[in-house]
Amino acid sequence: MLARRQAPTYDVCIIGSGAGGGMAAYALTRAGARVVMLEAGPAWYASKNSAMLTPAYATALRGRATHLRPFGEFDACDGGWEIDGEPYTKAAGTKFDWWRGRMLGGRTNHWGRISLRFGPEDFRGKSRDGLGDDWPIAYEDLAPFYDKVDDLVGVFGSKEGIHNEPDGKFLPPPKPRCYELLVKKAADNLKITCIPSRLSIITQAKPGRQACHYCGQCGRGCTVKANFSSPDVLIAPALETGRLTLLTDSMAREVTVGPNGLASGVSYIDKTTGEDKHVAARVVVLAASAFESARLLLNSKSARFPQGLANSSGVVGKYITDTTGTDVSGFIPAMADHIPHNEDGVGGMHLYMPWWLDNKKLDFPRGYHIEVYGGLHPPAYGFMGGIQNYPGAGGYGASLKEDYRRYYGATIGFSGRGEQIPNDDCYTEIDPNVVDKFGIPVLRFHWKWSDHELNQVKHMQETFRSLIHEMGGTPFSQMPTKEQGYGIAAGGRIIHELGGIRMGSDPKTSALNANCQAHDVKNLFVADGGPFVTQADKNPTWTILALAWRTADYIAQQRKQGAI
Ligand SMILES: Cc1cc2nc3c(=O)[nH]c(=O)nc-3n(C[C@H](O)[C@H](O)[C@H](O)COP(=O)(O)OP(=O)(O)OC[C@H]3O[C@@H](n4cnc5c(N)ncnc54)[C@H](O)[C@@H]3O)c2cc1C
Ligand code: SF4
Repeated sequence: MLARRQAPTYDVCIIGSGAGGGMAAYALTRAGARVVMLEAGPAWYASKNSAMLTPAYATALRGRATHLRPFGEFDACDGGWEIDGEPYTKAAGTKFDWWRGRMLGGRTNHWGRISLRFGPEDFRGKSRDGLGDDWPIAYEDLAPFYDKVDDLVGVFGSKEGIHNEPDGKFLPPPKPRCYELLVKKAADNLKITCIPSRLSIITQAKPGRQACHYCGQCGRGCTVKANFSSPDVLIAPALETGRLTLLTDSMAREVTVGPNGLASGVSYIDKTTGEDKHVAARVVVLAASAFESARLLLNSKSARFPQGLANSSGVVGKYITDTTGTDVSGFIPAMADHIPHNEDGVGGMHLYMPWWLDNKKLDFPRGYHIEVYGGLHPPAYGFMGGIQNYPGAGGYGASLKEDYRRYYGATIGFSGRGEQIPNDDCYTEIDPNVVDKFGIPVLRFHWKWSDHELNQVKHMQETFRSLIHEMGGTPFSQMPTKEQGYGIAAGGRIIHELGGIRMGSDPKTSALNANCQAHDVKNLFVADGGPFVTQADKNPTWTILALAWRTADYIAQQRKQGAI
């Protein structure tokens, strides 16, 4: 009789393959660990599968958004605000939207690549103004890992010496485009700091990766690997070590616990067969995205952990935040009837405005940065919708075509991205009445902005309008009123959701310690945005990457010492 082959016990099981999971897999396989990765979506590599150079006229939809591709037919990321059979619910009166990627690499396939370090002040918010909480780590703890991420992944930018906007190990930034020069002039006149942007797009080649050729199609994924996506930059090298087992189409259900109270592995659904399976591991790393990881913990209930895993404090699902955001765009006459000129560049802004003001003189805490958009993009579905809003434009026939030519490239817009302070009205929990198509209980969200965020967004609106006026332009919209929340985007809409499994020094008020290790379960770690104590006025992913690398190094060190 043949002996039954025993299923392997892996050194580490990582759930999710986006920024956090990809980085953990990269670092842990290099440190010699045998890793299994569960990813809910299918395999996808921009280098093989991207539609980077497909012209919009090549398809019937002309690049139009679809149900599974809300950012356009050619966008690199499968997922969206709604996923068939995988609902989430909202408490009465809550406005919250949750964007989820469902593919290898998650949202790193199409993210904006704005790659900013948090600054020293961002880790000590409470010490500064008494609001929220401080992190249990400081900028100095993360700085060596930011350096390593800069070297490995690549980021362009300029050394500016701004205290709370730390410089990195930058590649040369691209020059501002024509409309960005106009923005820079207006910002200088208004004394708003305006500097080259910082994006994880390589402007000089790296081994196995070409330098950017400025096609501007980053959101579709880059076939020459010039921009960062987890599959091409992290997962592929991890697979090359021979130590990564990648299980795609595998939806984690819960983290299992052994009689010793330690994580023993993960149960998951094989989506190709519908079977329930289990993978055994000595260490479990959650990186399914902040709120998915919180959901996994809340659903991992047992006699020993009735409130869910790593949740004896009751904080899992609490202290959740998103970036604040609002936009204003306007018609800029100086850009109309333009002389044809080269506006090639990366698929994102070449300039941006970091936070530049002193809160002591303002009616809100913390800050925001300003992102810039405009320019001459290749026409696709919906091109220049709203033409009737330009002076004298609209109608039919030859004169309408003339209007398109005249006003093409004459729109400039600004997006504010600011820091929300965690509050008691923003949290998520398991909805006791709803399960997804796999039978897994879903999350229910509660969300309410406070005056801190509303006043901050009012300031954004006023600033963007002054910038447009300074350029001699006219905003397309009226200033939103207080009743309209000053145009604040609904919670979740900026897709920078963080927290819910926060780190801290006190096990009574945090789920994880300063190494992103569960206080309650020493072989359980979180490597996505879940551990974040606060937001910052920066986008979060560079910090997710640096923190995940730090966590992976800690796991490797603990394994070496036989502690886990
Ligand atoms: C359009 C867009 C633009 C953005 N622009 C920027 C930007 O410019 N700068 C910035 O800093 N951030 C940006 N972000 C945010 C950025 O994408 C996220 O911060 C980052 O991807 C988070 O990494 P993550 O690993 O936590 O999650 P994700 O990248 O979402 O990866 C999570 C992975 O886990 C998988 N998964 C989920 N649940 C399970 C489960 N139960 N079992 C198995 N697998 C599971 C998912 O399929 C996914 O692949 C943007 C996001 C979007 C959508
Ligand atoms: S702009 Fe550069 S990084 Fe972006 S898709 Fe084109 S070549 Fe790649």
